[in-house]
Amino acid sequence: SKWYGTEASLLKDDADKGFKGHDMLAPFTAGWQATDLNPLVIERSEGSYVYDINGKKYLDSLAGLWCTALGGNEPRLVEAATKQLNTLPFYHSFWNRTTKPSLDLAKELTELFTASKMSKAFFTNSGSDANDTQVKLVWYYNNALGRTDKKKFIARTKSYHGSTLISASLSGLPALHQKFDLPAPFVLHTDCPHYWRYHLPGETEEEFSTRLANNLENLILKEGPETIAAFIAEPVMGAGGVIPPPATYFEKVQAVVKKYDILFIADEVICAFGRLGTMFGSDKYNIKPDLVTVAKALSSAYMPIGAVLVSPQVSDVIHSQSNKLGSFSHGFTYSGHPVACAVALEAIKIYKERNILEQVNKIAPKFQEGLKAFSDSPIIGEIRGTGLILGTEFTDNKSPNDPFPPEWGVGAYFGAQCEKNGMLVRVAGDNIMMSPPFIMTPAEIDEMISIYGKALKATEERVAELKAQ
Ligand code: PMP
Repeated sequence: SKWYGTEASLLKDDADKGFKGHDMLAPFTAGWQATDLNPLVIERSEGSYVYDINGKKYLDSLAGLWCTALGGNEPRLVEAATKQLNTLPFYHSFWNRTTKPSLDLAKELTELFTASKMSKAFFTNSGSDANDTQVKLVWYYNNALGRTDKKKFIARTKSYHGSTLISASLSGLPALHQKFDLPAPFVLHTDCPHYWRYHLPGETEEEFSTRLANNLENLILKEGPETIAAFIAEPVMGAGGVIPPPATYFEKVQAVVKKYDILFIADEVICAFGRLGTMFGSDKYNIKPDLVTVAKALSSAYMPIGAVLVSPQVSDVIHSQSNKLGSFSHGFTYSGHPVACAVALEAIKIYKERNILEQVNKIAPKFQEGLKAFSDSPIIGEIRGTGLILGTEFTDNKSPNDPFPPEWGVGAYFGAQCEKNGMLVRVAGDNIMMSPPFIMTPAEIDEMISIYGKALKATEERVAELKAQ
């Protein structure tokens, strides 16, 4: 097989199935990849596995895109969708008309989230439009209160909040901004809380968190607290490389945000519904958000749906000011789509009935310890994670400051070796990300560790060859 260098899926010229140069403008795909390589075409799924059109089986270590929490063929979700499709495939939720599944799901979500009080749910189609909705809600709220200057958002470097204009602006990843004239000017970015990469010599995790909270406060003061509306954060950063927060981080940033009457938005799109071993990431890190974003595992990805959970502080203002502001003129045709809501209700029912938290906490130690055992590899800088989410960062000399030359494509080579050996991982440069379905068996975790080990060995050999050249 030909080596394509710096991108994943390097072995896809094996069998030309006629999809090379296909007609999709493919998301997060370089044009040359779509033109020169066969795409990996997935045809069906079963439990923790997916199968491509050639019948090759892959352990899906990323649960699709961090989302198929209940795996690939949960019959109850199919039944819930079918039942709803047969009863009412669609009705909307505009102008005080709605459907029972959307009412039920709103009640379920506001009760399920207990880290702080939530009184309303607004439904969207994805995480991106949910985060766009957050911005509009916060602006509407501050307009209702007459605080017309309080409009800026603070997000963090390396965060991922989506790829629509506003959610991409909130995201702190250069690739989402460059060439798209982003970020929008009202978005500011503060430090990424990655201790290994950014701590000063001798600085403890707690001291690092204090410094970052101080930097956040200084940014707020520099901009003027009366201009800062909200702070948005993922409990564990996902697409930025899987970055769990350092000790005391959320306690300290929450204190700063509160001091200046700035709303806290928890972007729980990856963390919610059990991935960290708690129902929400906010439960794990004692976050008391004013607004919450959920999607992905909400329906175990069987139907596209996201939601914004709104605290009474915000929803009461929006409701009580409606005489002054008129209707809340925001929504999507598919906000509260009854089939998506019915599937989400069933997914949550399954999480509760099967005690998904117990399940995650049972398999997470094997997953974390089994993979972190590879930390000694000379090409691995850091393996980090918690619950069922894990990131591997390849660097030279175990140092955050010694990246491998990008043209070596170390991460891509590792990803391709995983693929060759029957496992799909997420590759972003020299970061590898995994977030398996919650239903993984111990034997599947062993398989995951074994394939990871094989891919790592091949990658170590490849790096040694490149170094010798
Ligand atoms: N927020 C977070 C934390 C995410 O991880 C993602 C997607 N990976 C999004 C928002 C955007 O969600 P979507 O792709 O459904 O628009």
